Amino acid sequence: MSERDLLMIPGPVNFDPGVLRALSAPTAGHTAPEFVERFGQALEWMKQVFIAPSGMPFVIAGSGTLAMDMAVCNLVEPGDRALALSTGYFSDRMTAILERYGAEVTTLCAAPGDTVPVEQVQTTLERVRPKLFAMTQVDTSTGVAVDVRALTKLARDAAPDALVVVDGVCSVAGMELQQDAWGVDIALTASQKAMGVPPGLALLVASPRALETFKARKKPVANYYGDWTNWLPIMEAYLARKGMYFATPPVNMVYALHESLRQILAEGLEARIARHKKLSDAFKVGVRQIGLAQVPVRAEIAAPTMSAIYFPDGIDSKLIGKIRQRNVVVAGGIHPLIRDKYFRVGHMGVVSPGDISATLAAIEGALLASGYRFDAGAGVAAAETML
Ligand code: PMP
Repeated sequence: MSERDLLMIPGPVNFDPGVLRALSAPTAGHTAPEFVERFGQALEWMKQVFIAPSGMPFVIAGSGTLAMDMAVCNLVEPGDRALALSTGYFSDRMTAILERYGAEVTTLCAAPGDTVPVEQVQTTLERVRPKLFAMTQVDTSTGVAVDVRALTKLARDAAPDALVVVDGVCSVAGMELQQDAWGVDIALTASQKAMGVPPGLALLVASPRALETFKARKKPVANYYGDWTNWLPIMEAYLARKGMYFATPPVNMVYALHESLRQILAEGLEARIARHKKLSDAFKVGVRQIGLAQVPVRAEIAAPTMSAIYFPDGIDSKLIGKIRQRNVVVAGGIHPLIRDKYFRVGHMGVVSPGDISATLAAIEGALLASGYRFDAGAGVAAAETML
């Protein structure tokens, strides 16, 4: 990738220079006072970003998949029932992880671009009475967002004991998630999307109810690195500003997280979420103006952090290379049923109005070069009017 390329894939995204500078600071020892203070502060700020004052934050070296793994391995014991809502590729990964730890999983699959009907979720919750209910706030394979608040409330009424686990990898810090107020037991994410930090951190916040369930386990956790028995004392120690060792923490990644969380809270969560929505709306209007259809079947379930766009008739994935020639990097499809039919654009983190226009201009240029007939310039113009 050229240093002047605009990285508009749905993670990793472009990062703030201050965050990147934090990565290159001299590495302190993991029990040095300056590191202990920054780690403790970052853990407190995690709770603020997840809006989970009662929650227990975990910051672990790894990717989002490790955060998913940790949610499941610490809560599920063989034979436990689980219900997973699938809105695409990443939700299906959650089902695979649940099965790996011996859960009896019921998965409700939505058609690509759609959500599972609420009535079906309700009757299945009542029938299955799961111990764990998992959903993906934004499935990055389809750009479909689910209504976490409504689904969590539904679970509380229909299956009150179910622990609600939300994969927020493509949503946290770019879309509303109020963990405590909505009653979400585990919210998890990764560093490289709206959290604004290069790939390498698994981030998770557990509710008191989730920790109680973990502490009441009958069998040991079948994953050594992810076991909260190892990590809980560490996170508690750093929150209390004490250094403690289980496995060496990624010191510079924690510096970068500290800086990004500072920036997120300085912008303000509401303002940040509103910015993501505005930029997303402008981008999606621009895409529609060019005549391209989107994967989410209704505007109200389209994520504000990314867009999934079908290639028009006669155009295929070679378009992505042509967009790339215009210094904008977008991603191909990943949902197995529609993989070659669409492409994906991420608009999270430090994304700006200029990035939105530049991306639309690159898409328009690539379409023109591919022989697609449309009102050239109309997408950029429509977006600019909204920006
Ligand atoms: N869940 C979602 C919704 C994701 O978008 C991703 C990554 N794109 C993951 C989980 C897995 O995260 P990672 O690639 O960091 O392991």
